[in-house]
Amino acid sequence: MIKTVGYGARAATSRLERMEFERDDPRPEDVVIEVMFTGVCHSDIHQVKNEWANTVYPCVPGHEIVGRVTRTGDKVSRFREGDLVGVGCMIESCRACEPCESGEENYCEGPNGWLATYNGPMVPASGAEGGENTYGRDNTFGGYSSVVVVPEDFVLSIPDGLAPEAAAPILCAGVTTWSPLNHWGIGEGDTVAIVGFGGLGHMALKLAVAMGVEVTVLTTTPEKIEQAKAMGAHAAYIATDKTSLVPLAGSFDLILSTVPDKHEVGPFLDLLKRDASLVVVGNIDIIDGVDNSKLAFHRQSVAGSLIGSIAETQDVLDFCASNGIAPEVEIIDIKDINEAFTRVENGEARYRYVIDMSTLG
Ligand SMILES: [Zn+2]
Ligand SMILES: [Zn+2]
Repeated sequence: MIKTVGYGARAATSRLERMEFERDDPRPEDVVIEVMFTGVCHSDIHQVKNEWANTVYPCVPGHEIVGRVTRTGDKVSRFREGDLVGVGCMIESCRACEPCESGEENYCEGPNGWLATYNGPMVPASGAEGGENTYGRDNTFGGYSSVVVVPEDFVLSIPDGLAPEAAAPILCAGVTTWSPLNHWGIGEGDTVAIVGFGGLGHMALKLAVAMGVEVTVLTTTPEKIEQAKAMGAHAAYIATDKTSLVPLAGSFDLILSTVPDKHEVGPFLDLLKRDASLVVVGNIDIIDGVDNSKLAFHRQSVAGSLIGSIAETQDVLDFCASNGIAPEVEIIDIKDINEAFTRVENGEARYRYVIDMSTLG
């Protein structure tokens, strides 16, 4: 067993605190990673506070993990000790269903779906070796910890030219916005609006701008208007200012909503072109405010999209490295994590907190 130190919550109402636990020794296909940096995703907060009503405690969050390989199992062929690697939202899938076979394991239709990096049930995925839960606890523990052990097929390579702390948010925020931009065929010359300008929204902007897209940002925070323009937005408006939105009617090939809480999408549907889609990536609640008389008259869609595949995650890491894209990060000490959660909830992060795991001590 591998002695591990992490930060986790013991109940929905408790603060994250230091805890010690053990991880399994690597199976032949596993990579052992000493964690260097972990991004703070809004999902971490939803999960820790049981806002999705499925949290198992203790809960050690973290799914934007960057670190160094310290050990590999005998069957590992793509990684060796010392490699800089990343782990995102998934650490296993069934490997046998149609989505898994076609490289879209984020839509795994196996009996347990894909295994989440944290708060995933400790039921072995059907394709995994062993066939029993040997972890001695009921759920997976994530990257707010000193060590993670992950099958190599779910480990990403961090390309040269990408700083490890900058790579972390790409593993969730980056791929979650990259995947729909590509799936909906967005490219050079297209117009995209981004609703919500936080961790996901600012990554969406940077990625789309590098793809040659004309991007408009819709935010509720006045000070972010100029920040969005400085990051390459063609225009930025206050999302609740109806007068600003009127001239944008029928303007966009795609709208990405990155707002992390339940929200009305109705006001934004008018901004879509015919045949265009509004894709909600920031929230998994019921989508309010969808008037099909508006959609039907212009053959528009409201859609969802869930993170991205492992292949897409590698693609977006490589794209960021070759285009000089890095998220705006603020490095924090793990001891300040509870305050950081509060600041994220208050919309005060600019734009992603990344925990320096050397501060675990
Ligand atoms: Zn996330
Ligand atoms: Zn599957």
